[in-house]
Amino acid sequence: MEQILSKLEVQPLLLISGKGLIKRSNAGFSRVFFPVGEGDSLASYIHPEDRREFQTWFRNLNHESPELSLVKNFRLADKNGRVVSAMLRPERVSEQDFIFWFWEDKGINESEDYWQTALTPAMEAVFSSILDGVFLVNVEGKLIDVNQALCSMLGYHKFELIGMPAGKLFSNEADEIQKATFRFARIMKYGRVQEISLTLRDKAGAEVEVSLNGAVIRGEGNQLVGILGTVRDLREKKALRHLKEKTSELEKAVGELSERDKVKDDFLSMVGHELRTPLANILGYAEFLLEGGVNEEEKDKFLQVIYQESRRLARLVNEILDLSRMQAGRLVYHYVLQPMDPVIGEAVEAVAAEAEQKKIRVEKKINSGLTLWIDRDRIKQVAINLLNNAIKYSNPESEVRIETREMDQGALVLVEDHGIGIAREDQDQVFEKFGRVEELEHHTQGAGLGLTIVKLIIEDGHRGRVWLESAGVGKGSTFYFWLPTIAEK
Ligand code: ADP
Repeated sequence: MEQILSKLEVQPLLLISGKGLIKRSNAGFSRVFFPVGEGDSLASYIHPEDRREFQTWFRNLNHESPELSLVKNFRLADKNGRVVSAMLRPERVSEQDFIFWFWEDKGINESEDYWQTALTPAMEAVFSSILDGVFLVNVEGKLIDVNQALCSMLGYHKFELIGMPAGKLFSNEADEIQKATFRFARIMKYGRVQEISLTLRDKAGAEVEVSLNGAVIRGEGNQLVGILGTVRDLREKKALRHLKEKTSELEKAVGELSERDKVKDDFLSMVGHELRTPLANILGYAEFLLEGGVNEEEKDKFLQVIYQESRRLARLVNEILDLSRMQAGRLVYHYVLQPMDPVIGEAVEAVAAEAEQKKIRVEKKINSGLTLWIDRDRIKQVAINLLNNAIKYSNPESEVRIETREMDQGALVLVEDHGIGIAREDQDQVFEKFGRVEELEHHTQGAGLGLTIVKLIIEDGHRGRVWLESAGVGKGSTFYFWLPTIAEK
């Protein structure tokens, strides 16, 4: 109690015993009214004409509900005969004691009269049971009453709030207080406000976001007497929404992580599977050879298989390494300003033996005449890859065509075959990791990584584009890639 009192130096207060004796007065009281002697009876400071009424009121107070806190007007008079009108409001603070808080009553107007009787104990009970903050403001913009919820929300003691200009809830700056008080005047004018979001200040000055509902209260004769406001603390709601957002973000991240984990697992098992096949072949045929008893013809055949499978294995390992380096962003491109056509020409030469084997004629029309910033080896790798596929997925003695030309400020390279073609629904998938057209899987030699690497080299490495066209199964395919002419890298 003493602690509270010492904090409340501004708001005039007296601590009054059940017998009506002044136990403590504060600095606010002396400043606004006059100094009083501790131990004196409060009645001795009440104007003689009001004293009887005060004593009756006080007696009743002692027997009334402990929560009773009606506002009462009395004239105070000091020992020198100075008279000041005061409004006082009692609050029981213990079995015996009350705090009486006072404020100077500069001319009692009708609205104040209203408030003296308006605050019934029933209303007080309603106030205190409401979970939102509730306040009553008089026509002067001063807080007449507040409930406990508002006090807790803003970190004030009830006594500090009562009598305070309502504007002070918005700011500590004088002109802001003025503005906010003015706001209340507007509510007065328009009758009511609903769900306005605004920021209040708690005692420590921190912002408290609330939504405010306000309505004017009219007294007798329809006269405005004040405002009843309720404020809902939005911080909790906001915090909840924030928490919900964060939780769903987290859930998403966990989902992505496990998805990524799954992709990695799939990749590893695919890699394992792809490596095992050529290895098994190599081992098997090597064993035949080691066991002996094979004739020259068989020996040649077996060695041929071992050679082919070793190549396949080497290619696979290179592809896997390339891919993992690219995906980790560790692949370094060596860009050089290059004429495009010779690079493509070299790729055609590189696949000549394979084409020859299947008696496939490679027709070339290489005359883009463009010079581009490219990583020569990587672009050659792309062209070889597309040519290899064209040969691989074509019937013997058919034709594959490669062409370079200028298009859209860049170089277009196309590789056309008349082979097995790709069904429309499989076309996107072939650029995916291990993306192979399923029905053909047993025909294919590769692991389905080639086109994934092609796409990474063209799109990530050279800011180009790669796509394919195929009229469908059995109708051949054309793979395209396009590289932009970039002045400087
Ligand atoms: P792979 O090593 O299996 O050839 P790629 O990534 O190079 O892997 O190709 C992926 C799949 O795309 C192939 O398995 C095949 O099903 C299909 N494909 C690629 N090129 C052609 C083509 N020219 N004609 C038909 N299908 C093709």
